[in-house]
Amino acid sequence: MKRDLLNLSLAELTTAMSDIGWPLFRGQQIFQWLQKGVKDIDKMTNLPKNDRDKLKNQYFITKLDIIKKQVSHQDGTTKYLFQLPDGELIESVLMKYHHGTSACLSTQVGCAMGCAFCASGQEGLIRNLTTAEMLDQIIAMSADQVERISHVVLMGSGEPLQNLQEVVKLIKIVNHEAGLHISMRHITLSTCGLIPEIHQLADYELPINLAVSLHAASDEVRRRLMPIARRYAIQELVEACDAYAQKTGRRVTYEYALIKDVNNSVLDMKALATLLKNRLCHVNLIPVNPVEGSHYRSGSSDDIKLFKNTLESKGIPVSVRREMGNDIDAACGQLKRRTQNSNEGIHWEEPR
Ligand code: SAH
Repeated sequence: MKRDLLNLSLAELTTAMSDIGWPLFRGQQIFQWLQKGVKDIDKMTNLPKNDRDKLKNQYFITKLDIIKKQVSHQDGTTKYLFQLPDGELIESVLMKYHHGTSACLSTQVGCAMGCAFCASGQEGLIRNLTTAEMLDQIIAMSADQVERISHVVLMGSGEPLQNLQEVVKLIKIVNHEAGLHISMRHITLSTCGLIPEIHQLADYELPINLAVSLHAASDEVRRRLMPIARRYAIQELVEACDAYAQKTGRRVTYEYALIKDVNNSVLDMKALATLLKNRLCHVNLIPVNPVEGSHYRSGSSDDIKLFKNTLESKGIPVSVRREMGNDIDAACGQLKRRTQNSNEGIHWEEPR
């Protein structure tokens, strides 16, 4: 069976090429073509024709197809619907900030975590993505926008810590100086809080940012929103995050989606401040993005300000996620669902 070249790290490529009896630098040459988005082995013009033919007999290169694209007229945020080689669909988002361009990637098709407010989990988990399928989301968006991607956030559909090995390989590939050379400090992995896997990630000692979807300060409220809260208590979760922060020297971000009448009361604010006091962390408040089929709504901008000010007055650093791409289906999973259900009311831009 043919293997996927795009799934290989530079070290693996070099070994694979030396196994065929080729010089070591062939691995680096191929790696660089792949990172430039070359999908046709015949376009790797610094390889002799015979070698290209040999390579084609043993390898293929994953290519994601852009099925649909939605561009926000507010801020240029672009959401992509990609088709994978087996026909499954995933979403990715490209966001432009003053500090650079950020790619938000999916790590699985669907998601097993079943959070009540999230569109990605409504269909359950279908499968993990390969490293190549994650990498090609970056390569394809970068090529489509003719834009260098400086930041990567693993915050699209799926739970990245359930696909840890492939995710770690992806991180090492995109960070490699012979490739996209995206700094580890510009890579953020978001998890719903799988404690054993947080420890495993810490053991890799990658200086990436860890974001944890907390969304509640008490187990009782968290269990209403996130099934994973039935498995792990908040206290154990923040202790695992402390261990991560200590090992990597990186402060952990707690994501908190503000949901009216669920987790945005004064009591919630106080409980959150008590929980996070004196921890090496930061809170990212997210006005919840309403998804079809759920009744959750975010509070008013005054509610959000009050929440932010209360936490800050207790010494906890807070940011409020800029609501990007509100005019497109920005919440993960929504574009795919709407495409599968109906296209009505959406103004698509044809892919180039
Ligand atoms: N499984 C991972 C990463 C994917 S979700 C995780 O749970 O962190 C990325 C972030 O978006 C998480 O914080 C998630 O809770 C949040 N999210 C999902 N649906 C949302 C919605 N409708 N509104 C606001 N945030 C949402």
